[in-house]
Amino acid sequence: MHAHEAGQIARISCGHCHITRHYKPIELREVIGNVSIEQVREKVRCQVCGKREWMSAELFHAYGQELVTIRFRRLKEIRWERRVIWRDE
Ligand SMILES: [Zn+2]
Repeated sequence: MHAHEAGQIARISCGHCHITRHYKPIELREVIGNVSIEQVREKVRCQVCGKREWMSAELFHAYGQELVTIRFRRLKEIRWERRVIWRDE
């Protein structure tokens, strides 16, 4: 996602669970990378049903009252977990 989209809001929904969440594009970029909203849709997975095929993603602008009522899902942290893998010689 590009800088000019930073003022926009990303709406990501699961059509199966009927759950919609709002994200700040700059935070999605941190997690998914600098990709288009179409690529975001292909990469995200529903956190409830775990499926990809029902997802939709779009960017939009919100103003005034709508902007006030939107609750964002914010990026809290990115955790890099250490995994140990053994092999036998
Ligand atoms: Zn779902």
